[in-house]
Amino acid sequence: MNNQITVNNLTHTYGSRRALDDVNFTVPRGEIFCLLGPNGSGKTTLFKILSTLMKPTSGSVDIFGYDLYNKSKAIRKLLGVVFQHPGLDIKLTVTENLRHHGHLYGLKGKTLKLRISELLERFGISDRSHDIVEELSGGLKKRVEIAKAMLHSPSILLLDEPSSGLDIGSRRQLSDHLSSLATTENILILLTTHVLDEADNCTRVGILDSGRLVSIGTPDELKGSITGDVVLIETTNGETLSQAIADRFDVSLKLTDNYIHIECEHGYEFVKEVVAAFPDEIQSVRVGRPTLEDIFIKLTGNPYV
Ligand code: ADP
Repeated sequence: MNNQITVNNLTHTYGSRRALDDVNFTVPRGEIFCLLGPNGSGKTTLFKILSTLMKPTSGSVDIFGYDLYNKSKAIRKLLGVVFQHPGLDIKLTVTENLRHHGHLYGLKGKTLKLRISELLERFGISDRSHDIVEELSGGLKKRVEIAKAMLHSPSILLLDEPSSGLDIGSRRQLSDHLSSLATTENILILLTTHVLDEADNCTRVGILDSGRLVSIGTPDELKGSITGDVVLIETTNGETLSQAIADRFDVSLKLTDNYIHIECEHGYEFVKEVVAAFPDEIQSVRVGRPTLEDIFIKLTGNPYV
């Protein structure tokens, strides 16, 4: 076993639509790797392939030394999968859900009981173990889903858009639980998301755009590709104003809809100058250190929607 996932030249087409275009990356055990991209970028397609639900048109995936297609049975034992759509029986209690799932994996008796209480503890849901699932909040339900996927002690946890539908507080708690899981169980966690702040909490991020992996790195490495600040100017006259700014200042800029994104060394000083130069054309201004959204726009030239 080599303890990593390696994706080689993965391409997938639906008819004439290319959903994945020559994707390559490697994720080692212990890492929380995030595939970040807007709707339609190919995340679900890649997730379905990695979770053995779908074969790609071409390319290969090696999971801990096993080829995904020739050894899918062995690989399924290594995988815990959390799908976007709920997989819990909402009329049963938390423990009942976990017990039934444990039975499917051949776990029973004391071993199963111990594993369930260990996971309930780990995910902070011990006090809700006898509650009916439909009475739980979205964040708690998601934690039960993850506990369920972890019952058979997989080496890899795959999660499709785990923060979908969760508020920011629940998202943060979920991120904390995943971080502690990756460390204490030394597992590889791979998740998809379109939520930028969720990607910020992962070890490394792969940015997908229209099926292409446009960049990969730690959140800090990715943001480091912009050295200074980012100034975002809202205007009703994007084309004209961005041309006027480019003519007057030595800055790199991109226009998406009516927003002008400008990279510059000292954002606050630049803001003073640009507002003084074009007081009537600017509707609002934001200045700050680059975010992953800024990086996406820089890399693709498209707004992150
Ligand atoms: P994401 O999960 O990032 O929203 P998807 O993997 O669902 O992206 O989709 C990637 C592209 O593939 C999109 O253009 C989408 O419309 C297309 N697509 C996804 N599933 C199908 C399908 N079953 N048939 C045809 N096109 C599809």
